[in-house]
Amino acid sequence: MPANILVVEDEPAIQELIAANLHHAGHHVLRANDAEEAIHLVRETLPDVVLLDWMLPGMAGLQFARRLRSDERTRDLPIIMLTARSEEHDKIAGLEAGADDYLTKPFSPRELLARIKAVLRRRAPQMTEDAVEIGGLRLDPATHRVTGDGRGIELGPTEFRLLHFFMTHAERVHTRTQLLDQVWGDHVFVEERTVDVHIRRLRSALEVSGHDRLIQTVRGSGYRFSAQTE
Ligand code: CA
Repeated sequence: MPANILVVEDEPAIQELIAANLHHAGHHVLRANDAEEAIHLVRETLPDVVLLDWMLPGMAGLQFARRLRSDERTRDLPIIMLTARSEEHDKIAGLEAGADDYLTKPFSPRELLARIKAVLRRRAPQMTEDAVEIGGLRLDPATHRVTGDGRGIELGPTEFRLLHFFMTHAERVHTRTQLLDQVWGDHVFVEERTVDVHIRRLRSALEVSGHDRLIQTVRGSGYRFSAQTE
């Protein structure tokens, strides 16, 4: 599944090589030359993964990783540190700062893509192709099919992503801002009421099998997908 990947790397040749490989694998690539640029990009669009160089001009990669971890909005954002160093203590410092994984340069494109897939599976299950089933409702990202008690359910692309996110993050309350970040990847240029419009469409599509009851409105907070009755 294509992911939005932010590459923070000051070396133009390496940045270009990584971006070309990611692009070739079907991912969308955002690029930053330093942490300040990256902060600006993250503010506009929440990426699915950050590839973060250790040695950056200005704010160091490690410091930026800590900053992402300390902000509620980016706390769970998968981070893969990239570095030319290979000393064990650097690796530990990177992981302690909140990085999910660590790649030592030079690395092969295959290794990079495998690591990205692995962190997405751990951190963001809605990004993987694994089918999910809750209370008789089944969603298969690989075939793009949704069924409710075996009956086919037709969904638009946004409703599909919304349902996928809900099903992989069930029983939790999500605010409209969080849903915009996670499902639309944007909370700046899309209005919050857009979320309500798509929730309404999703509920109406799920009525076929009665699974619309799984999407609960939490007054004053947002929405929750739950297999437990209120
Ligand atoms: Ca560098």
